[in-house]
Amino acid sequence: MLHPIHRAIILLTAARAMRCPHTQLRLRLGAAEIRDTAAALVSGLEAAATDIESGNAQDALAAWTRATDAVAVGSAEVCLPALVATDAAARDAGAAAKRSIIDAFGTCYGRKALYDAIKASETTDPLLARARDKHVARFEANGLALADAAAREQVAKLKLELGAECAAMEQEINGDSSTVALTRDELEGVPAALVDALPVGDGDKLLVSLKAPTLTPVLQHARDPAARRKAYIAGTSRCPENARRLNRVVALRAQIAGLLGFASHAEGTLKGNMASSPDEVNAFLDRVVTRLKPKRDEDYASLLALKRSETPGADALDPWDTAYFGRQIRESKGIDEEALKPHFPASEVVPATIKALGEDLFGFTVRGPLDDAQLWHDDCELYEVAKDDIIVGHVALDLKSRDGKFGHQMVVPLRPALVNGAPNCCAVLGNMGDANGRLRFREVETLLHELGHVFHALAGAPKPSILGWAWPMVPWPGGVEMDMLEVPSMLTQQFVYAAAASETLSASTRPPRHRRVTGRPRRYAPAVLAKIARPHAETGASLPSKTIEALAENRHLLAGLGNARYIAMCRYDMAMHSLASAADVDACGLWQEIYRETAGFTEAPGTHFASTWYHMCIGYDAGYYSYLWSEVNAVDAYKQFGDELDAAAGRRFRECVLEPGAAAGGAAMMEAFLGRPFREDAYFERLGVPVSS
Ligand SMILES: [Zn+2]
Repeated sequence: MLHPIHRAIILLTAARAMRCPHTQLRLRLGAAEIRDTAAALVSGLEAAATDIESGNAQDALAAWTRATDAVAVGSAEVCLPALVATDAAARDAGAAAKRSIIDAFGTCYGRKALYDAIKASETTDPLLARARDKHVARFEANGLALADAAAREQVAKLKLELGAECAAMEQEINGDSSTVALTRDELEGVPAALVDALPVGDGDKLLVSLKAPTLTPVLQHARDPAARRKAYIAGTSRCPENARRLNRVVALRAQIAGLLGFASHAEGTLKGNMASSPDEVNAFLDRVVTRLKPKRDEDYASLLALKRSETPGADALDPWDTAYFGRQIRESKGIDEEALKPHFPASEVVPATIKALGEDLFGFTVRGPLDDAQLWHDDCELYEVAKDDIIVGHVALDLKSRDGKFGHQMVVPLRPALVNGAPNCCAVLGNMGDANGRLRFREVETLLHELGHVFHALAGAPKPSILGWAWPMVPWPGGVEMDMLEVPSMLTQQFVYAAAASETLSASTRPPRHRRVTGRPRRYAPAVLAKIARPHAETGASLPSKTIEALAENRHLLAGLGNARYIAMCRYDMAMHSLASAADVDACGLWQEIYRETAGFTEAPGTHFASTWYHMCIGYDAGYYSYLWSEVNAVDAYKQFGDELDAAAGRRFRECVLEPGAAAGGAAMMEAFLGRPFREDAYFERLGVPVSS
């Protein structure tokens, strides 16, 4: 049954063409419409700001909330095409539209009279009060709390330069198409299909792209260590201009932080996170390093032993050895992920997964795919999510890859926070499945992850868009604390390994209920996976339990070494953004020492991997640790589910964490769900690290 408000909206808008009858969004705009709509959004925002400044708006906070909500809702129609349109002109117009909206907000949050009006707003509504504080924080990040007009101007000038440098850095990474030239002899060991597809360069050399889909298999398979070294060094020396830019970016951030009264950029940035200070983050990283050290050393020793079997007398691993020997160790476990694919036809697994999480876990009703949805491509499917017969949102799934489309996986909010009573909407953009539409095991895991974001985005109760689910991908202000953002997705992702204790494994229809067997090792049988998988497409056989068991057993294989590099990057991010002085910054130079100390590797001299480190220019500065922070929280939360789709725990998680979105702080939400502050023990226990007393 439709809520009366939704029915009214549908009636009002049904007459307009191209609008999806479900989402009420126009998601197939052409380049000219994108430009016109974006211009209207920008001028609407600026007009509202002017109105408030001139005292015409009765309630400044309400007026600014309406104005930002309107842009948040409207921006999806003009920005999404940049990522998904088949028409290059629409993609370009979408990217320009996004830029113009970012700039418009940047300018507005630099307007002193607007800031004064919003800051002075009084409200008894706690949601509006929190929204006001979030707006005020944005103004103040631009220096508007500074009494000295010259200092404010200085911050604005530096911010402008910072924005331009970050954009240039990102563009340089996007545009990089550099290669390394290797001979067929040097590529010995690399799968023939990959080698044969490489373009030919000068003489007998083949050109190896330095992008991950090509570089990674070369580093994993090339037998010749000198060739791997060459490929690794080329890969970590790309975008040399960005090394200079990164130094400048770090210096600008330090300078701005100083003007704003912070000891460092990290201190200013972390103020709004769950981990609220650099000390807290550094202590967290130190604890993880210390507790994982035995595991790291064990991984290191096993890889070094393999290296010695090929290079007698080798006394250390090099950075270009880990992918190669790590692959050998993985292969020695005999895990054949390919054999699982016939159990995962996307056309059946996707609806089963969305229903398993949406209905069985979180207690929604999920309907779909809907027949009459108006989306941007025929590959897309729309699902409706309802709670107590009221539609709370829609999710559009665009999971297959195609030319010109965004190349990774992510969730994009399309309409946040039940603004104006219209349902939430978000999209999953993926690049999943083979030519036969079958998913790999890892892709099923990714699907579970992305759907965690989806239910976080859709579960919300009505609130201002600045308190809605979003992340730096969108041009409007909003979003969950950075280190809280991945908690729901990392929680749902874990269900791919949910193990039932039953001895035998049947096919798809087995219910996930199981009895806990104690006192002896549990034989692995996937509870949730069995629910979403299908009998083998050709043989009809049930999911091969041995392979699943091996995957579960080796889930954290080489996690000591893998985490060590990741944590070195977190420490590096914190170190460069903790610099107090802008003078003589050598951001790239900080890495060598941190990498050696944290992970035990000597970096190749002259390389600068951070030049292609996206996160440092797209909003994860002083925030790279947040993935690990979220994971530790998610593993702790998962224990409450007892390894099954526990509807009672799911409902509590929905009410305590998903529905508030950004309307409450992450630490408070987690404490409400757990009944205590979050703990790190479950995470270490999962990795096989003894829990200290
Ligand atoms: Zn995620």
